Amino acid sequence: MEAEKRTTTICTVVAIDHTALSYTVCSFCERTLPENSIPSPSVTLCDHCNFTRNSSAVPHRVSTSNPSKRLFRVLMSVATDTKVFVVVVFDRAARVLFGCSAQDFIDFAKLHSFSGEIASKILEGEMLKVTLSKPKNGNAQHQRVVSVVPLKSGFRPVIDTLRELYEVRSDSSNIPCSR
Ligand SMILES: [Zn+2]
Repeated sequence: MEAEKRTTTICTVVAIDHTALSYTVCSFCERTLPENSIPSPSVTLCDHCNFTRNSSAVPHRVSTSNPSKRLFRVLMSVATDTKVFVVVVFDRAARVLFGCSAQDFIDFAKLHSFSGEIASKILEGEMLKVTLSKPKNGNAQHQRVVSVVPLKSGFRPVIDTLRELYEVRSDSSNIPCSR
């Protein structure tokens, strides 16, 4: 079996799909959970391991009391010097850009509307050195970003900029983005 192909390239962020920055997985087996099962944390969430349904029967100790957790999965359109294409940034790489966990970002976004939109604006135009992986089994639609290194000196994670913006905003009525 051929190993997945990895390439490293310099690219610029063109756009980010801010409507779906993260997804929910079962805390226990880490399988993706359907989005519509999120609302009540006490409800059975995972059909794969029955974590919440029979949590007392699950032999493993689970370190977290929350049956689900959020991970980043960011669809990002990037431009190299030859082309523009869409990549998907999973949790570990996305944390470099956002500077926090997906759950932290969601908690912040709940209190501060437009966080997603602004986050995508913050990252637009950012120069990144990315390592891309193209799985051989054509299952995946987009190349995955395995690692990311922001090239701008003094790069600040999204959450830092957001916190600063919203602090500023609380002093004035100006919203720091175009609507
Ligand atoms: Zn599970």
